[in-house]
Amino acid sequence: MLRVFIADLHLRAEAQSQARFVDFLKGFGARSELYVLGDLFDLWLGDDLDLPRYQPVIAALRAYAERGGVAHVMVGNHDFLFGDAFFAHSGARPLPDLTVIDHAGQRLLLTHGDALCLADVDYQAFRARIRQPDFVAQFLAQPAGQRIATARTFQDGSRTATAGKTAAMMDVDADAANAALVEAGARLMLHGHTHRPGVRPLPAGRRVVLGPWFERESALIWPADGPPQPLNMGCDAADIVG
Ligand code: MN
Repeated sequence: MLRVFIADLHLRAEAQSQARFVDFLKGFGARSELYVLGDLFDLWLGDDLDLPRYQPVIAALRAYAERGGVAHVMVGNHDFLFGDAFFAHSGARPLPDLTVIDHAGQRLLLTHGDALCLADVDYQAFRARIRQPDFVAQFLAQPAGQRIATARTFQDGSRTATAGKTAAMMDVDADAANAALVEAGARLMLHGHTHRPGVRPLPAGRRVVLGPWFERESALIWPADGPPQPLNMGCDAADIVG
């Protein structure tokens, strides 16, 4: 059993963007499990709108399931609007944020990571607002053009706000991450979101940050019977489990 952890692919509808993921997934099949820890897509505005636009990615996930792979997909802050149709068409399984799994003799705590960025108070308030079931239902009831326009307004606002924040403000809160590890009885937390790949020590263990796909593929490939193989994460196996 091989497990593959990825996050922050931020795939876009352009064929070239989707092809990178399609090619990557071709390398894995039966006896493997894919764990997407959020932001597979740069934007997901509803299954009705985006299933047709991301047909190559959906078909690749479906083909992966058909050759015996199991894909688990967690939502990120860019694609938290997956509906039942996304999972039905892709064959992927929803992965709750947080999830604890046992792998290769380790207990792993899996999360996207944005809920732990506590110093970014504005972002946490925005996050809470847009994830209210009423807000989501109203948004998804809007015509496609209106949803696209609203998303653009949010993204412009986010870019402006981000420009006025320090890197530390937008990073994972170390105390909160440590408390989550203790609560889960885990020593390793795997997350994405911050786009700062590598390993950060915590009193209770380590925070392993997956890398974004903006410039190149990044993943943590981990056989059950061997050491983890970080791909473009700026760290090696010993940093993770040594
Ligand atoms: Mn994110």
